[in-house]
Amino acid sequence: MSLKKNNKDDQAIRSALQSAERIALFSHIHPDGDAIGAQLGLAAVLRAMGKEVAIYNQTGQPGTFAFLPGMADLRHWGEDDFSADLRVALDCGNLERLGLSEAEWQADQRISIDHHMGHEPFSDLNYVDAEAPATCAILADFCRNWNFPVSADAATCFLTGLHTDTGSFRFEKTKAETFQTAAWLMEKGADLSAIRYHVFESTSQARFQLLNAMYQSSEFLSGGHIAIAEITYKQMLNLGVNDDEVHGLVGQLKEVQGVELSILLRELSSGAIKVSLRSKQYLDCNRLASEFNGGGHVRAAGCTLHSSLQEARQTLLAAAARHLKEDLSS
Ligand code: 5GP
Ligand code: MN
Repeated sequence: MSLKKNNKDDQAIRSALQSAERIALFSHIHPDGDAIGAQLGLAAVLRAMGKEVAIYNQTGQPGTFAFLPGMADLRHWGEDDFSADLRVALDCGNLERLGLSEAEWQADQRISIDHHMGHEPFSDLNYVDAEAPATCAILADFCRNWNFPVSADAATCFLTGLHTDTGSFRFEKTKAETFQTAAWLMEKGADLSAIRYHVFESTSQARFQLLNAMYQSSEFLSGGHIAIAEITYKQMLNLGVNDDEVHGLVGQLKEVQGVELSILLRELSSGAIKVSLRSKQYLDCNRLASEFNGGGHVRAAGCTLHSSLQEARQTLLAAAARHLKEDLSS
């Protein structure tokens, strides 16, 4: 296979999954609920079909999702000598986000299943549906249409991705079909209570304090349309907060009335600045992040800046104010 484009050929994906015996599943670095849910859910389905499956992530296991069945199997690629005849990249918009080099990703048969807008194809077969609310929604619908075996555990994994990537069924890509997919997963035995308890009602005290620090640093600019806040590496260190506990904080800023765009700047241990962007109605976050070699979706995107926190803040605010005007008038 050497089809490096988004061919959206679900039947080719189906036959690749059905004919492979040893399958390795990958997702993006610093995995969120959709990335992890997609990997663990698909792993459970494929194992029920008699396949040997290995799952990899280059930045390890996010604690929030430790409750999901199969998480203990997640490994760092290169840690074992599993030889796969098919590799699948899930919820990952480009090769860099996979955390592997071009040489490391080389294999006979590679497929990608994703829903990121700015997806840059890096596999032989790429199924990208940017309208899908979550990669887990694509996978759940595939399994439903193809009659693949979805256990209660697999359903819990897929529902976790659907729940988290839609902001609990609030975001724009949530359609009537999204609820139908969720309903089907519930019928399959998905454990909604476990998701609620572990994902939404288990914030650590440290994360709560970090949220407090973020609120204290917040400012409202451009007539209240832009909310910006920052978190320093020192704050993370002092509170003992790890990377995956920061996920989702930026969304809180967007909840303020009048805010169209929320920006969270986070200083990494390397000194680089990780930027998270969220918008409410019209600003295209993907377009803004793309200006800085990042990407994502219209309402949620990110990028990394190699500068001081202060410089990153100025650069971002200038670009954001410009995008605010352009996107409002377009
Ligand atoms: P978050 O702000 O939660 O880190 O990311 C929001 C969305 O933007 C996610 O869909 C994520 O995959 C995407 N994203 C975040 N950072 C980057 C980046 O540096 N590059 C690209 N291409 N996408 C990113
Ligand atoms: Mn996703």
